[in-house]
Amino acid sequence: MTFRNQTSTRSKDEIRIFTPWAYVLFTLVCLTITVLFVTVVGRDPHAPRLPVRCLLGVIAGTLLGCYAVLIGYINQDAGRRSMSRLLWTLIAIFVPNGLGIVLYFVLRKPRTAHCSQCDAEVEPGFNFCPRCSYKLSPSCPRCQRVVGVNDVYCPYCGTSLRNQEVPQV
Ligand SMILES: [Zn+2]
Ligand SMILES: [Zn+2]
Repeated sequence: MTFRNQTSTRSKDEIRIFTPWAYVLFTLVCLTITVLFVTVVGRDPHAPRLPVRCLLGVIAGTLLGCYAVLIGYINQDAGRRSMSRLLWTLIAIFVPNGLGIVLYFVLRKPRTAHCSQCDAEVEPGFNFCPRCSYKLSPSCPRCQRVVGVNDVYCPYCGTSLRNQEVPQV
């Protein structure tokens, strides 16, 4: 079940979670790997020439930078979903071939939303805020379950959600 009115705020949240640390992390990893390729790898007598090493460094740096940012994202995102940040960050880092990252995205819990009136944490599926009883999403007047914005009848008990007398199918 989703909170339709919060969809746009959520996508903004997703972008906000990446700034500004993600840019710093990405640049740092990218530069470190490039410098490593140019200097340390350059000591090997069989190493490729400088321009090739630079190019390889930038490619490897970009890939590892993305990896680092993804791990950082998991670290932040797990907290918003009441999951263990430390555990999932470790899984993302140490499970090889990026499988830890895949595993996280498969197993992550739905995000906890916030009441737009008092900002209390509310679980998905809640109709009313447990702290201030604010109505979080449209619900059936009879059985109080969450219904869609465009629903004409309650999908659970068949009650008409419009005030007109439409014969039930
Ligand atoms: Zn509330
Ligand atoms: Zn109902």
